[in-house]
Amino acid sequence: MLNKKSVDDINVKGKRVLVRCDFNVPLIDGKITDENRLVAALPTIKKLIADGGKVILCSHLGKPKGEPKPELSLAPVAKRLSELLDQEVKFAADPEVVGANAKAAVEEMEDGDVILLENTRYRAEETKNGEEFSKELASLCDVFVNDAFGTAHRAHCSNVGVTKYVDTAVVGYLMQKEIDFLGNAVNNPERPFVAILGGAKVSSKISVIENLLDKVDTLIIGGGMAYTFSKATGGKIGISLCEDDYLEYAANMLEKAKEKGVKLLLPVDHVIGDAFSNDANIQVVASGEIPDGWEGLDIGPKTAELFADAVKDAKTVVWNGPMGCFEMPNFAHGTEAVAKALADTDAVTIIGGGDSAAAVNQLGYGDKMTHISTGGGASLEFLEGKELPGVAAANDK
Ligand code: AMP
Repeated sequence: MLNKKSVDDINVKGKRVLVRCDFNVPLIDGKITDENRLVAALPTIKKLIADGGKVILCSHLGKPKGEPKPELSLAPVAKRLSELLDQEVKFAADPEVVGANAKAAVEEMEDGDVILLENTRYRAEETKNGEEFSKELASLCDVFVNDAFGTAHRAHCSNVGVTKYVDTAVVGYLMQKEIDFLGNAVNNPERPFVAILGGAKVSSKISVIENLLDKVDTLIIGGGMAYTFSKATGGKIGISLCEDDYLEYAANMLEKAKEKGVKLLLPVDHVIGDAFSNDANIQVVASGEIPDGWEGLDIGPKTAELFADAVKDAKTVVWNGPMGCFEMPNFAHGTEAVAKALADTDAVTIIGGGDSAAAVNQLGYGDKMTHISTGGGASLEFLEGKELPGVAAANDK
């Protein structure tokens, strides 16, 4: 059980609080085109303001590769945050991030003030977890709060290094929610516990499959991954995505599931196309019967029903990876059927970040899920059962 101290467990009145946020937002010509990450950060920031902290925000943005790049400055974020918070968020422009200007800005702060530091990746040491920059960040604050889940699987100065040089390091509300669901709910699930895995490749989800096989009652495999399993059991898969190096692995996993008493469900039919295109000719065929020259691009209607049925009585469901090439509308039906099944079940529904989160939101089911992770790589590593450095670095309760 991960039991980390959070912003609810500390008193920040009059203290300088450095908050690592995830303000890595898309920018076009200096305009923020998706502000979800800013909005998501507000509850923690508001809490710290209300408690009378001196709130110093920091984040990375894009990949400036260790040097100042004006197009990757966080200045537009400070401006937008000021509007969202209805109070000034002073931008501490500083090519060194923690240079003379940033230090002076912190010196001048009153309780309840908010400032934003420059892009932490302007400093080359940031992604190397270097000691100097970690110490500089720590010198600005009395308390550190990590609310950036998207980088929790990386050990950088601004989320891990800094914690070595502060007495108090806690998590914010966003991180707490990710820990509660992707960490604790997955490790101590209410049963029946069903995991649904999809996406392109078996090879990128091996550790996830292995970790979840020890925990779930039912494992559902769809998407491009399913064809390697189908071929491994002698099925004809045409020119569907397949990783021949993993055929033996897939066969072993099927055996392992049996040994562990885990129900492993694979597609029973597929929507296939004669080209990788939304305009391809389409057929629905039974699993293992894909003709030469055709490829599986989505699960079929019988499979969608089978998978939906499997989550009906579940108490916990975790989903990572689309069921087909959902970016093409003709091959999005399987993914949509699974999203709908999750929206309809009473189970705790947890959506891994990345493509599945995008699919659920794009299909309009976002508000029906218990938790949609904000981190792609980080959520996958949580599902692999790994310890995330950004989570481990926070103080235990
Ligand atoms: P991943 O990043 O591994 O979760 O893979 C997501 C990608 O898998 C999406 O871009 C989907 O279009 C792709 N995908 C899902 N099903 C298939 C399939 N049957 N054939 C090819 N690509 C697929």
